[in-house]
Amino acid sequence: MDGSKLNQEPVNEEELIEKGYRKYHGEGIDIYYNKDICAHIGNCVRGNPEIFEVGRRPWIIPDNGSVENASYVVDTCPSGALKYVIKNN
Ligand code: SF4
Repeated sequence: MDGSKLNQEPVNEEELIEKGYRKYHGEGIDIYYNKDICAHIGNCVRGNPEIFEVGRRPWIIPDNGSVENASYVVDTCPSGALKYVIKNN
């Protein structure tokens, strides 16, 4: 699922927060997660265990990988529980 889109449109932070996503701040990319949508498939944790580590707080640290890898792994999330916004620094 394309993690940069929400209902076919580029994701918008306000809308994500309104829908119950929580923001995980990174230098080059912000990742958003909605626990109510998560299907616990584990693609994220398998995809990059340094960015996504269940049990750690915060469990998502976007800066523990490259922007390319973080967005790639988010795109492997099948449920739409993960979204991202790449920032132009
Ligand atoms: S890949 Fe998506 S659905 Fe699967 S555990 Fe991670 S956040 Fe949840």
